[in-house]
Amino acid sequence: MLGSVLGTTKILGVMGFPVSHSLSPVMHNAAIASMGLDYVYVPFPIPVDDLPAAIAGLKAIQSVQGFNLTIPHKVEVIPLLDEVLPIAQSVGAVNTVKRIGDRWVGTNTDVAGFLEPLKQINCDWSQMPAVILGSGGAAKAVVAACLELGCPVIHVLGRDPKKLKKFHGTMTSQLRDYNLRVHPWASLPHLLEVAGIVINATPIGMAHDPHTPISEAEMAILPNHAIAYDLIYTPRPTKFLQIAEARGIKAIDGLEMLINQGAIALEWWLDQPVPIQIMRQALIHHLT
Ligand code: NAP
Repeated sequence: MLGSVLGTTKILGVMGFPVSHSLSPVMHNAAIASMGLDYVYVPFPIPVDDLPAAIAGLKAIQSVQGFNLTIPHKVEVIPLLDEVLPIAQSVGAVNTVKRIGDRWVGTNTDVAGFLEPLKQINCDWSQMPAVILGSGGAAKAVVAACLELGCPVIHVLGRDPKKLKKFHGTMTSQLRDYNLRVHPWASLPHLLEVAGIVINATPIGMAHDPHTPISEAEMAILPNHAIAYDLIYTPRPTKFLQIAEARGIKAIDGLEMLINQGAIALEWWLDQPVPIQIMRQALIHHLT
């Protein structure tokens, strides 16, 4: 339950278009309420062309302390900010902005959010080639995370050769010069033979989509020690993860990434520890 909105209430929010599906208000308002803070977190539906006006307008509203960005604003926001921290520069996408003085400072918490559930896994990442399915915005953060893990090579698969080439070109030189390779989907079986971690960064299998980006036959190709990671968090588990679990492969869904990217953002805005378990419970309760 939200507390009262007062004359002193500070505002956080999420910019997207559409934004009505966002689960961020659920988890952030649960944390804010449990901490007894005079804050509120609201959705900001902002069409693409209106983003510059929205960023400037929110700066003029002194009670707005920060905001998240989701599709389609994570890249387009960059030139509109006063400062972009190195992690967001290297990913080429900003998902969190904080007011510092009279400046908008952007960062990317998707990378750390993605990494959090992998910290529990004890393995030699230098022996774990990464295979990333999809080359959209989330795939960029996943590439940066796999670089941080120390995966020896990062393969990105896409269905559109032009978009794949653009994806490779827009990664920073640090990532490009690393062992980053882009491939058409047809290369999948060959890459699965040696994969250490396979990440679904496409919407295939989301909500009521009964499809899977990897068939049972393809899953059978994966080495036994491989990890299957789906960025999707509805349904839990996706068909991709069901097939992985049936094959005895470790499966991770996108919920912890969602929770952790949010918790890291809230901690940055508030400059204090946040109740991540409350955020987790609020999301799970909402999703079930
Ligand atoms: P995006 O920028 O729209 O990228 C989607 C990618 O998937 C594109 O490369 C797209 O290819 C590809 N794709 C879409 N449909 C496909 C299909 N039928 N076959 C093959 N490739 C297909 O989206 P995004 O922001 O990267 O998000 C991707 C997924 O990650 C979504 O499901 C999103 O909900 C999830 N996500 C989760 C979290 C989390 O916290 N857990 C965070 C971010 C994103 P084309 O370019 O050719 O269309």
